[in-house]
Amino acid sequence: MEHITLTNGTKIPQLGFGVFQIPPENTKEIVKQAIEVGYRHFDTAQAYFNEAELGEAIKESGIKREEFFITTKVWHTSHGYQETKKACEESLKKLKTNYIDLYLIHQNIGDIYSTWKALEELYKENKVKAIGVCNFTPSRYVNLSLHSQIKPMINQIEVNPFYQQDQIETFYQKYETTVESWGPLAEGKNNIFNNQTLKKIAQKYEKTVAQIILRWIIQRGIITFPKSTKKERMTENINIFDFELKEEDMEKIKELETGIPIADIDSPEFVEAISKYEV
Ligand code: NAP
Repeated sequence: MEHITLTNGTKIPQLGFGVFQIPPENTKEIVKQAIEVGYRHFDTAQAYFNEAELGEAIKESGIKREEFFITTKVWHTSHGYQETKKACEESLKKLKTNYIDLYLIHQNIGDIYSTWKALEELYKENKVKAIGVCNFTPSRYVNLSLHSQIKPMINQIEVNPFYQQDQIETFYQKYETTVESWGPLAEGKNNIFNNQTLKKIAQKYEKTVAQIILRWIIQRGIITFPKSTKKERMTENINIFDFELKEEDMEKIKELETGIPIADIDSPEFVEAISKYEV
């Protein structure tokens, strides 16, 4: 497994496992399978309602806590200084751990600045080992970076072949931010697994379309954590470190950009819809 080192020295396994949309009643069993397959990096959130079950699976694995990398996120209904500190305590309890490896602001909504101040303090208290944000557009990211004591170390954003965000490499290098890709497989939407360009590349390397996509993300220096409820797919998705895509194939994938995201985070409609979603 390749690792990425953040500005503060924290090391993250570049490929992890996401548990969004895995119902709580199935999470423990699915995460146990993912651990068996070899995953040690898990991405959850307060708003996924499965932190407790993820924590149980990790505890029951018998593998040392230090071998895992756990990310969770604070939802906007817990934004604000005191509320965020409380939400973090609740997440720690549910995850059955005394530290979180990476704690993120989930959505750029509401009182971001008090929330970020709480994250900075949690980081200084060593309750969280690294801090960052999700779904920040570059301008909002710069704003937070320039007006806070500690810069976000991560921005977790949508990146997949149909929405590539190819400006990010140069932009985030300047701010020494690491990018994480959510929805790497475009959540299976827009017939991605039958895309002709991806299928041809997959045939050439004798890999699957999912493996080609994930390898393309990894080769861009981005961290990612595909979700799957099926053990054979979990195995497929983690087996991407034994080949390398040639530059010409990286370029072919570039042509798949549509400019259309799964979630248009900068639209008023998105902010309205997310603001209504309470946990
Ligand atoms: P995703 O990983 O892009 O796609 C998951 C979908 O692909 C599921 O339908 C899964 O089906 C299918 N799949 C997985 N591996 C496959 C394979 N090898 N072949 C064919 N189908 C495959 O979508 P995601 O879950 O939205 O994104 C990944 C993670 O990113 C999440 O779990 C979450 O941790 C994070 N995330 C964060 C945000 C944010 O706002 N910060 C938003 C969305 C997601 P099966 O389960 O049936 O295998």
